[in-house]
Amino acid sequence: MTTSYYKKLLKQLRAKPAKLKRFAKFNAPKERKYGIGTKKCRRCGRTGGHIGKYGLNLCRQCFRDIAVKIGWKKYS
Ligand SMILES: [Zn+2]
Repeated sequence: MTTSYYKKLLKQLRAKPAKLKRFAKFNAPKERKYGIGTKKCRRCGRTGGHIGKYGLNLCRQCFRDIAVKIGWKKYS
């Protein structure tokens, strides 16, 4: 289950409190200590294409968007 899919599911379940309770008991995603799922983009929450180098913690798409704003320069 992807991160975004899980969030959508919770949004739908908020209208149904009894089902939400049952979902939280049996289907809640596992707490991860390590692995891809623990590293999320701090801008958009995406788990793919993560850049952790230099403490960026952004996905590659967000880095591409804001690289110039945060002071990166392209040398070609
Ligand atoms: Zn991102």
